[in-house]
Amino acid sequence: MPVSLDVLLVGAGPTGLALAAQLRAYGITFRLVDRSLDRVRESRALGIQPRTLEALAGFGVTERLVARGNPAMRLRLHLPRRTVSVPLFDIGLTDTPYPFLLFLSQAETESVLGEHLATRGVSVERGTELVRLDQQGPHALCRLRGRDGAEEDVVARYVVGCDGAHSTVRAQAGIDFEGYAYPQTYLLADLDVDGLEPGAVHTYMTGAGMLIFFPLGSPAPWRMLAIRPSDAPADEVTLPLLQQIADRYGARGLVLRDPVWMTDFRLHNRGAARYRSGPCFLAGDAAHIHSPAGAQGMNTGIQDALNLGWKIALVCRGAAPEELLETYGIERAPVGREVRRFTDRAFAIGAGPHPVLRFARARLIPRIAPLAVRATAPRRRVFRTVSELAIHYRHSPASTTGGRPPRHGPRAGDRLPDLPQGLQAQVAAPGWHLLLTGPPHLWPDQRLAPVLDGRADLITVHRLDDRGPWPDVAQALVRPDGHVGYVARGADLEGLRAYAARWLPIDTA
Ligand SMILES: Cc1cc2nc3c(=O)[nH]c(=O)nc-3n(C[C@H](O)[C@H](O)[C@H](O)COP(=O)(O)OP(=O)(O)OC[C@H]3O[C@@H](n4cnc5c(N)ncnc54)[C@H](O)[C@@H]3O)c2cc1C
Repeated sequence: MPVSLDVLLVGAGPTGLALAAQLRAYGITFRLVDRSLDRVRESRALGIQPRTLEALAGFGVTERLVARGNPAMRLRLHLPRRTVSVPLFDIGLTDTPYPFLLFLSQAETESVLGEHLATRGVSVERGTELVRLDQQGPHALCRLRGRDGAEEDVVARYVVGCDGAHSTVRAQAGIDFEGYAYPQTYLLADLDVDGLEPGAVHTYMTGAGMLIFFPLGSPAPWRMLAIRPSDAPADEVTLPLLQQIADRYGARGLVLRDPVWMTDFRLHNRGAARYRSGPCFLAGDAAHIHSPAGAQGMNTGIQDALNLGWKIALVCRGAAPEELLETYGIERAPVGREVRRFTDRAFAIGAGPHPVLRFARARLIPRIAPLAVRATAPRRRVFRTVSELAIHYRHSPASTTGGRPPRHGPRAGDRLPDLPQGLQAQVAAPGWHLLLTGPPHLWPDQRLAPVLDGRADLITVHRLDDRGPWPDVAQALVRPDGHVGYVARGADLEGLRAYAARWLPIDTA
């Protein structure tokens, strides 16, 4: 069978939708299928991190997400004898246009991404399931079953499994999903609560575990998340059970009411052994699942998609070598591992059954928390991690520093900060961006010709005078996902020419 399309995207959750937006921006032919007949209506993930907002800004969807969401700035930590207020993001995050955690239900996030795709003529083929996948030479032979039961075979150059924790693509590609399940059960409900101060996240902590209320807005004012105490009945989740648990966790005086969704679930911590097998890639929950501590799951999936999308697009267009696709797993698998490690630790602190952890929650944390919230430096470190702004690809083969590294400023593999303010907006258009700092006379067109000739439609040039994030004369090639690919000090362009020849060869045929 001949190749019928460049890319098959399996799964239209947040990961698949973000990937589709990127492929569409590069004019790649693809299909986006999802076996479910409707998009998710319940709120699952509900925090959008600053880095995700930055990364989605290029598609023009971030403003709509921000308009619909709630940039909650405070955490109220309810301790046995007092309540401590922890400002969430007002700690001098000056290098991002989005210095806050945006609260928005996953249903709304998917709706905004879906509307964006619809205006660009992309629709999700709902009720269409991937049921089988075989490698056929370098391509993938995929069997799809439509909602009427009819089956269709398609040959795709690449398949991306954005199909969630029980990924068919992962199973069919023979990739292991290694890890473990936690013994505890989580209780989750979207409901209204009398007695909670609005505009803040509320956390109650006891030896038994943690109870958290997040401001949600829609489809209910609050999201409640709690660990089911080990001696609580494992019955169906009901409002009286939730009220009883809230009382036990010290949230006395609150009245829970009008639930629109109540459920319980077991958490897992698992990661795909590989992110690629031949023409098949994994992204999002198909590649990593973990506890919701720190609101990382959906964000990590969207950022997987934004790392992979432009690479597949440029390879399909013949503008980049196949080798570029190898950098996807090299760059994103360590991020997935780190998220699993970090969320595992956070989960242990909040819910671990070990007596030492129970003691810490009951006695130690209530004593040290009021002091800890005043320590700005550790808070800033934690928030840079949680916000995902600190993610870098410094060890990737696609990150190169020229012979003379800049003395300060972002390094090869780092995300480009929004310094000076508005810089990220300048480089938001699809494609690569060449930033040149220092006097403009250093960068006449004819000097740039060895880098730009044959690539003018792929690289946009920005002469920044001395307003760039590097203090010296510098040259930096910023990748389509906003990470610095190449950076060097000085005006010698030989290293840059070599970088472009490797990753953007003029003729890859
Ligand atoms: C109850 C619950 C609460 C959560 N709370 C949080 C939270 O507070 N914070 C947070 O960050 N994360 C949370 N998460 C995790 C978050 O929802 C996921 O990380 C996120 O949805 C992952 O997106 P995804 O697109 O990778 O996968 P999914 O959203 O799972 O989407 C996968 C899609 O693939 C489709 N699909 C599957 N198999 C096939 C097939 N064979 N053919 C075609 N289509 C297929 C499915 O129908 C689905 O639409 C929660 C998850 C759950 C279940």
